[in-house]
Amino acid sequence: MNKPRSNFKNKVNSVIKRFDWARRHNYYFYMRNLESFSGPRIKINGRDMIMLGSNNYLGLTFHPKVKEAAIKAIKKYGVGSGGARHLSGTYTLHEELEREIAEFKGTESAVVFNTGFMTNLGSIMCLVNEDTMLINDEKNHASIVDGCKISTARIRVFLHNDMQYLEEILSSYAKTQDKLIIVDSVFSMDGDIANLPEIYELARRYRARIMIDEAHATGVLGKTGRGAPEHFNMASAKIDIVMGTFSKAVGGLGGFIASTEDMVTYLKHTSREFIFSTSLPPSIIAANIAAIEVVQKEPHLLKQLWRNIKYMKEGLGNLGYDTGNSQSAIIPVLIRDEIKTYKMTRMLDKTGIFVSPVVFPAVKKSESRLRLTVIALHSLADLDRALEAFKKAGRKLGII
Ligand code: PMP
Repeated sequence: MNKPRSNFKNKVNSVIKRFDWARRHNYYFYMRNLESFSGPRIKINGRDMIMLGSNNYLGLTFHPKVKEAAIKAIKKYGVGSGGARHLSGTYTLHEELEREIAEFKGTESAVVFNTGFMTNLGSIMCLVNEDTMLINDEKNHASIVDGCKISTARIRVFLHNDMQYLEEILSSYAKTQDKLIIVDSVFSMDGDIANLPEIYELARRYRARIMIDEAHATGVLGKTGRGAPEHFNMASAKIDIVMGTFSKAVGGLGGFIASTEDMVTYLKHTSREFIFSTSLPPSIIAANIAAIEVVQKEPHLLKQLWRNIKYMKEGLGNLGYDTGNSQSAIIPVLIRDEIKTYKMTRMLDKTGIFVSPVVFPAVKKSESRLRLTVIALHSLADLDRALEAFKKAGRKLGII
């Protein structure tokens, strides 16, 4: 009779045990408290560090025009929105942002959600029914996985970016009328890019719909930062559902679905996450609008970001590190050993370099890694300092 209770206690204990173990060994590097804005350099515990762990790829969280837009909106509207979108929480700014992001993504329309996570949770279940076959890449983001779980659809998973595997699934469900393929366009732990042109061809051949998660692609991929479709010279409009976030390169907060007018109207009237949650405050919406403008008007930021991506990847490669198949601002440094991953994080931390350790269960044990991100505003001197620290720590631990 008591079994469920003791099972839950075990569940808590196992997390606490792991937490205590990490703290005791000085391996705990989560929830470090920032005491400055999240730029190329940060302050933690009074120490200056080089930040290699932020998704603020273009530095827009503290861009003067973006800050000014948020401050102006706070002065005019106050802090909260006071209601959910359907009833009393839609401001002219929300609709302006929806028009802006639709235009940026080249789709008919768009709907804004409160976070990227909520966007996936709140849209996937609306996009399917019990007859749908949802087809996922195995490395899709947790919010997609959870969005699929709470839907009524059946789910199949293909090996990462394996087009032959995807085709096998599609062909074995050829008679299933509704199929929806979902992929991250940039995978959040590996930084590689989904093979969108082939996915598109397969989807056409097997009459499947496509949804892409452009969280790490928006503002990063493509000549003007419009994302993976631009990177591959495809129009976004060819993709049925384009999901993205304002929380990474755009520097703010929130998520969106860009699609057809009908699909957006449908989502706005069915998604529980959209309907039953207080909307984002006007200040954040104003910041997102200003940031999308900056992405378009200040293309040097995107150029600088790519200069830094190239420099860091080459630098790590020259030192002998394995950075997998990274093709974006996310650069995994594969250590493949959990303890060494923690030790390396600690050594880098001591020399003033902030990196994020990623271990099981976020990735397989054999894929333990440091997850690095570079931003446009790192100077080459910042990156040289980081590379020097990587050289020393890697040699000391016998990784390189
Ligand atoms: N999708 C992907 C691929 C992500 O990496 C993230 C954030 N880690 C999300 C969705 C969720 O976005 P947000 O942080 O805006 O909730």
